[in-house]
Amino acid sequence: MLDTVRQRVACAVLLVLLAGLSVSAQAQDPRYWRLDDIIAQFDAWELAYPDIFHQTTLGTSGQGEPILLACISDNASVREPEPAIFFHAAQHANEVNGTTAVMAQMAALLEGYGSDPAFTARVDGLEIWFAPVRNPDGHRYVFGDNPSADDWRKTLRDNNDNQQVDFPDDGVDSNRNWDWRWLESNEANPSSQKYKGPYPWSEPEVVAARDFIVREKPVIVVDYHSPVTIGWSNYVFYPFQRQNGGQTPDWDVCRDIAQEWASETRTVGGNPFSTIYAYDTLPKEQCWVYGNTGILAYLMEIGDHCWYTGASVDTIGIRVARGGSYLLDRALDGPGISGTVTSAITGLPLIAEVRILEMHDDAIGPRYTDQDNGQFHRPTLGGNFTLEVSLRDHVTQTFPVDVAGSGWTVVDVELSPITTAVADVITDAPWLRIGDTLRGGRSVHLALPSGMSAASVELFDLRGRRLATLGRDLAPDRPHRLTLPNALADGVYLVRAVSRMQQQVARLVYIN
Ligand SMILES: [Zn+2]
Repeated sequence: MLDTVRQRVACAVLLVLLAGLSVSAQAQDPRYWRLDDIIAQFDAWELAYPDIFHQTTLGTSGQGEPILLACISDNASVREPEPAIFFHAAQHANEVNGTTAVMAQMAALLEGYGSDPAFTARVDGLEIWFAPVRNPDGHRYVFGDNPSADDWRKTLRDNNDNQQVDFPDDGVDSNRNWDWRWLESNEANPSSQKYKGPYPWSEPEVVAARDFIVREKPVIVVDYHSPVTIGWSNYVFYPFQRQNGGQTPDWDVCRDIAQEWASETRTVGGNPFSTIYAYDTLPKEQCWVYGNTGILAYLMEIGDHCWYTGASVDTIGIRVARGGSYLLDRALDGPGISGTVTSAITGLPLIAEVRILEMHDDAIGPRYTDQDNGQFHRPTLGGNFTLEVSLRDHVTQTFPVDVAGSGWTVVDVELSPITTAVADVITDAPWLRIGDTLRGGRSVHLALPSGMSAASVELFDLRGRRLATLGRDLAPDRPHRLTLPNALADGVYLVRAVSRMQQQVARLVYIN
C-alpha cells in the first residue's frame, strides 16, 4: 500500500510540468506541511497509535494521487455507531493554514489520548475524520518550483489539453464545482481562479468528498480556507441565508454553533473569530452539503492572507485547532436528538427520513439515517421538538421530544410496514414482479425504481431471519431475474432491496 502511494506520488511529480516565468515569490515557510511530510507523519502515527489512528483515502485526485484521509477514534479502523465529524483543508491549494490546523488537531488528539480526560472522551465517543489536503495535485504545484504557483488555488485539470500545467489557464476551483445553482454561476472562464469547471462534478476530488460526506453523514463538516486578500478574514461562515433573504430551518442552531466555535478560536493576534451566514448563491461545497443532506456545513477563513512566516504559522494552527475542540464536544455532547431506526419486523436498521417539525423545510435535506446502523444525530438547541420518522410503505411515527441544554436525547424508533391484505401483496411493490415461471418454478423478476442506486436484494422470513441474498449491485430500470433458494416452503416472505440511500421492502407470497 505504501509502495503504491509513493509510486503514485512519483508519477504525479513527473506530470507536473512547469510552465510560465517567475513573477514574484512569497516565502514558503518550512513550517508549512508538504505532502510528503504529511504522508510520512501519517505512517508514523499509524505505527505509534494503531488502535486510535487509521489512515485511508478519500479517493484519488485528477493526477492519480491519493487524497489522504484519517480517522481518529477508539477502534479507529472499525465503523462504530458514534457521531462523526469531518475536518478538511486546502481544497484551495494555496490556503495551507487549514492544513496546519488539521495536523495540529490530530496531534493534540493522539497525544492527549489516555492522559487528558477531555481528549480521551472525544476519541472514545466520536468518529473524527481529517483530510489535511483535499487538493493534493494543486498542493504539490504550490510547493513546486514555479514561484507564480504560490497563488494557485485550483485543481490541475488540463483545460487546454496540452499535457502540461499552464498558469493560470488550467485547473478548476473545486469549491465551485458542486451541483448547486450551477447554471446561475458565471464563473465559466477557465483561466479564472474561480473557474467552476466544464460541468458539475468534473473534478474527482469533489466527487470523492461528496461521496464520503453522504456515506458517513457527519454531524458537522468543516472546510478550512484562508482569504487570498484581506476581507472576511478570521470568519466562520454558517449555512445559509437564501438569496431572497430567507433563513433556513436550522438557522438558530447553525448560528449558535458558529458563535461558540468562533469565540473559542483565536487569531494570530489573539482575538476571537467572527461569524456570518453564508449565501446559497454559488456552486460551493457548503451550499450543496447543507442544502442536499441537511448536514451542518461550515467554512472557516483562517487569517487575513494565505502565507505566514515564522512562529505565526504554528501559532495559527494551534489556535485554530483549539477552537476545533469546541466542535468535537458539540458533536459528542449535543444538545440534540439522536437515535436508531429499525424495522419492527426484521429488527434491521432502516434508511428512514428524520424530521424535526419545528426545524423542517422541504427545500433543505432530507436527513436520512445511516445506511449501516440506522443512526441519526440532529443538533438542536434546548427546547421542545416534534420528531417525525418516516419511510415509504411504513407507518410514520411522531414523538414529542424535550431536549435539555446539553446531551443527546435518545429516541429509538421501530417502523412497521403498512400492512395490506395478502391478496394485494403483489401490487403494493411495483418494482417486484412474480414471473410466469414462479408457479412450479423458483424465480422472481424485479426492476428497481429509477432514482435508486445499485441495490442488493435479500430474502427474509416473517420472523426476520435472513434466508438468502438474491442479488448484489443490481442496477435500477433494468429487469433482473433472481432465483429463490431451493426447498423454499410455501408461505409469505419479505424481499428487501437496499441501496446506498434508500431501501424498499415488499412481501412475496410463494406457492410452489
Ligand atoms: Zn478558499
